[in-house]
Amino acid sequence: MKIKILGASGGEVTGSAYYVQTRDAAVLVDCGLFQGGRQSEALNKPPTTPKQRIDAVLLTHGHLDHTGRLPLLAKRGHTAPIFATQATIEMTALILRDSAKIQAGDAERRNRKLLRAGKEPEEPLYSPEDAETSISLLRPVPYQKPVNVAPGIQAVWTESGHMLGSASIQLLVQEDGRTKRVVFSGDLGPRTAPILKEYEPFREADLVFLESTYGDRDHRPFKETVDEFVSIVQQCVKERGKILVPTFAIGRAQLLTGLLAMMFRKKLAAPFPIFLDSPMAIEATNIYSNHRELFDEEMTKFISERPLKDDLKTLRMTATGDESREINTVPGPCLVMAGAGMCNAGRIVHHLKNNLWKPGTHVVIVGFQSHGSLGRRLVEGAEEVKIFGEPIAVRAQVHTLGGFSAHAGQTDLLHWFSALAPKRPRVVLTHGEDAARAELAKQIQKRYKLKSTLPALGDTIEL
Ligand SMILES: [Zn+2]
Repeated sequence: MKIKILGASGGEVTGSAYYVQTRDAAVLVDCGLFQGGRQSEALNKPPTTPKQRIDAVLLTHGHLDHTGRLPLLAKRGHTAPIFATQATIEMTALILRDSAKIQAGDAERRNRKLLRAGKEPEEPLYSPEDAETSISLLRPVPYQKPVNVAPGIQAVWTESGHMLGSASIQLLVQEDGRTKRVVFSGDLGPRTAPILKEYEPFREADLVFLESTYGDRDHRPFKETVDEFVSIVQQCVKERGKILVPTFAIGRAQLLTGLLAMMFRKKLAAPFPIFLDSPMAIEATNIYSNHRELFDEEMTKFISERPLKDDLKTLRMTATGDESREINTVPGPCLVMAGAGMCNAGRIVHHLKNNLWKPGTHVVIVGFQSHGSLGRRLVEGAEEVKIFGEPIAVRAQVHTLGGFSAHAGQTDLLHWFSALAPKRPRVVLTHGEDAARAELAKQIQKRYKLKSTLPALGDTIEL
């Protein structure tokens, strides 16, 4: 069998996709969008050629960099089933609909320019209809039970602890009279984070594809990060200030909401107004509430003692633009979670413009901020920033909390791999920048005497 690497490798950390070809069948594992700049985005083409067979697509989780190219397949007429866990199906539907909307908006902006320049308009990457076609092909799979996904190929999904519904996938391929096992880690989550269950490693593989996003370092311990968050909130409540949290809609928004509920119940702070100011985050939160079976023991116990909504009576979900603008008139203390996570678009930009110049404001950065983003400039301590062309003084306190990552640090990556290591599989490292991959490879060599392959985009691994 052959596995071609069609994303998240060789300098790219997004666009995850693998094309697995056996003698009797072919499946795609993930079909993610390339993100982060024009050069990466230029790679957003269907992962296979029209002539290549696809019997099924298997998804590890719903994030756009693992699902966002599915509508490109739909656009080309593919009708093969897309297998994923039930929560991943719901997240994927939410994310693909949003992505199609963004594609349409981007195309509209581009086309206005093209038309003014006397050129032909361009089509968006894909349409809402293409996204709906993909969504209609999604088929639920259980955790831990082998599923027949294509002739001679079974697949098993296990918890990967990265986002609601996330999984690692093991393929069981019948070839040459024996079973070959290929494991895809998917994105792995940190073991200590609350709400989601911890990852469950596979114990057998001939070949393993391991993510390496944080292959070269560990995050700050989760508990320390929570303590810091609690003390920021307490200080802000005392000063009657506003806390602004730029956050992606899925994952950290729900984590922080959970932490605030815990704070209130433990009486670490008196309840104060909290705004979940993002239609997508609101929908994602509803999906979380409908999948309590995926919560870890601590969270399950916490919500069985008393429903979360009793602690979160001061939480307001502001779906409309008018509701969002009204937040401006709310006096502190209050906390606002809004997107985009890197402050480069979305409602958070308006909140920053209205509040950065006020000394009572706290900005809490909980996620990665890429070069050139407004979030990065705040993290780097800019005294003034430009927002919508207007200079804004930064008098707010900016806090960077490093421990809320949804990705496993080096120690957890190695711990996950240690369950497979005794069977001495071939190791392929993907989904990490070069330095992170190289360091993880070094650690695997040192601890398990196994040499890792660090493939380039488009490389094929034969088994
Ligand atoms: Zn992910």
